[in-house]
Amino acid sequence: MAQESALEPSVKKKKRPRELAVVNQAGCTGCEVCVEFCPVDCILTVPGAAHTQHQKLVEIDLDICIGCKLCVKYCPWDTIEMIPGDQAYGLAQAWTSRSVLGDAEWIVGSGAEVVESGPLPLPGSK
Ligand code: SF4
Ligand code: SF4
Repeated sequence: MAQESALEPSVKKKKRPRELAVVNQAGCTGCEVCVEFCPVDCILTVPGAAHTQHQKLVEIDLDICIGCKLCVKYCPWDTIEMIPGDQAYGLAQAWTSRSVLGDAEWIVGSGAEVVESGPLPLPGSK
């Protein structure tokens, strides 16, 4: 009989998806369709650079993404791609211009402008 418990660590390392979703913010309109479909709420809203109250972008917390591909399927602007896990973090750095993931290792040093997290103000409000 196989001794699985003896061969495996008592605390299993979380299995990571083979591919992760990466947003190319250059093509993102901030429509938030992807946000609605993500089952693990790992798509975050980021104020846009030029008109922070009106323009939005999104980014994906790659440490939480489960690789389900729903965001890719439903993005009307085809600006999310599934990328192999070993390449996703590097590509996300290149494709992210603004971020709310200031503490994420893969954002630190990426050159992305890190902005304060939290809900964006509604247009017209202060
Ligand atoms: S692939 Fe799935 S889990 Fe990952 S960001 Fe897209 S909708 Fe969310
Ligand atoms: S669905 Fe596509 S265009 Fe809309 S917010 Fe998400 S990534 Fe951006």
